[in-house]
Amino acid sequence: MSLLTVGSVAFDALETPFGKTDKIIGGAATYITLSASYFTNKNNLVAVVGDDFPQEMITNLQERNINTEGLEIRKGEKTFFWSGKYHNDMNTRDTVEVQLNVMENFDPQIPESFQDCEFLMLGNTAPAIQKKVIERLRTRPKLIMIDTMNLWMDIALDDLKDVLKLVDVITINDEEARQLSGEYALVKAAAKIGEMGPKTVIIKKGEHGALLFHGGHIFFAPALPLEEVFDPTGAGDTFAGGFIGYLASTGDVSFANMKRGIIYGSAMASFCVEKFGVERLFELTTEEINQRIAQFVQLSAFELEV
Ligand code: AMP
Repeated sequence: MSLLTVGSVAFDALETPFGKTDKIIGGAATYITLSASYFTNKNNLVAVVGDDFPQEMITNLQERNINTEGLEIRKGEKTFFWSGKYHNDMNTRDTVEVQLNVMENFDPQIPESFQDCEFLMLGNTAPAIQKKVIERLRTRPKLIMIDTMNLWMDIALDDLKDVLKLVDVITINDEEARQLSGEYALVKAAAKIGEMGPKTVIIKKGEHGALLFHGGHIFFAPALPLEEVFDPTGAGDTFAGGFIGYLASTGDVSFANMKRGIIYGSAMASFCVEKFGVERLFELTTEEINQRIAQFVQLSAFELEV
């Protein structure tokens, strides 16, 4: 089934304990759509860039079967720029600089051929824009998933609460879940966020895995312990892309399938962090992904009689 992803396509500059990059390709929607491209070939992108964005990268996305008809290229304007610096533990980072540029007045236009999408992924961007996307779809998708961040809780909380009423699934990290709900315990936090709208709440805990909450059930997916984590940027987005891409490929939105989805999401995120930026997401094979899924199964499978 078809997937529509909306969000940022960006230039990032990153600094981790392992090195530094000058402007490389990033953006939440870039990571999401690339990750999803390993599961569905009906993969549609709506985003905006300036005319400084390399045509070669757009071609690379198209070669992964990503439909870029909804990628607006604004003449004479610059692409969104974000730079971040990671602390030594790689779990925390500071935003060093943000230049909104084209994102300042992003007005997402949905091409006619994207109107019938069954799955919608709203990548991290202003909640008012995320709501506009839902309103501009003539038919409500079978599943709407949203990602957000603490910035919007600080500066656009009412807008965020507004759009949350309209979605089915939210992915959010543990600190953001605590901030949004006012609860420290993640079980209580997930319940409160669920009352705001999304019936399924996924709380990401970085290198400690992810929790899936749905209708009183809880499922935990570990993160694969890796020998080297090079750059965690986009891991959350890659996770979301793997999750929703897998759901779109199966068309099944049951809790049992969502459990499989967060394992696929976690596997994709484990690849993302192995290199800087989106590089790793261009070179994967189905065999590699399947091998990693097998590692996940091994990681937490045990026999126990009670
Ligand atoms: P993640 O590491 O999963 O939180 O995602 C990092 C990506 O989000 C980077 O590639 C950034 O370009 C993008 N990003 C950072 N801040 C924002 C923002 N305010 N709006 C949209 N995208 C953002």
